[in-house]
Amino acid sequence: MIDSYKDKGARKKLVEELENKGIKDRSVLHAIGKVPRHFFFNKTFHSHAYEDKAFPIGEGQTISQPYTVAYQTQMLQVEKNDKVLEIGTGSGYQAAILIEMGAKVFTVERNETLHKSASKLLEKLGYKFTSVYGDGTKGLEKYAPYDKIIVTAGAPVVPKALTDQLKIGGIMIIPVGNNKIQRMYSIIKKSAASVEKMELDTFTFVPLIGEDGWKI
Ligand code: SAM
Repeated sequence: MIDSYKDKGARKKLVEELENKGIKDRSVLHAIGKVPRHFFFNKTFHSHAYEDKAFPIGEGQTISQPYTVAYQTQMLQVEKNDKVLEIGTGSGYQAAILIEMGAKVFTVERNETLHKSASKLLEKLGYKFTSVYGDGTKGLEKYAPYDKIIVTAGAPVVPKALTDQLKIGGIMIIPVGNNKIQRMYSIIKKSAASVEKMELDTFTFVPLIGEDGWKI
């Protein structure tokens, strides 16, 4: 895997583009500038890796648009050593961004092929993380509670297990809506029984499929 000057230059331009679109968090921009997004693409599509677009990664799934990754990560307010649960590993790119920011990442993917390929790639890149194959609508009880939870697929409702597995004071960023458009929510857990919900911008994600998600 080669990260050429051309790739580094394209990445720098992408970071500038994200800044122009309103991303301000320096640690998010720094991580996006550092992680070679083209490593998460099939070689054939290398030339598309630094466009601000979602892109197919096989299995009918996508790597999220860089702006979406930056937006969700900025809203997550990641701090060093935060325990972060990601639902929807996909290509592994979002996990790499979180790890670069110093988070301890736990990531769940329901598609076995993607789970295996992303885990293999992240390992090859030397990252430390915990990757699990399963239904993320149930969270990941084994390592709970989490400081932060990020859901990278569109949910019909906020899965109860995810709120339960969030620490008090923790933040969850999750897109909720129908199969065409979702509203991003920032959910802060105020106490064991109460949350504060903020409605953010709208996005379009692939569906969160599972017991507490969409049914196939
Ligand atoms: N974060 C990914 C990345 O950086 O490439 C992009 C995620 S992609 C937009 C959404 C992913 O969520 C898909 O890989 C899909 O298989 C996965 N997914 C959907 N429902 C899920 C569930 N219940 N649990 C875990 N993963 C799920």
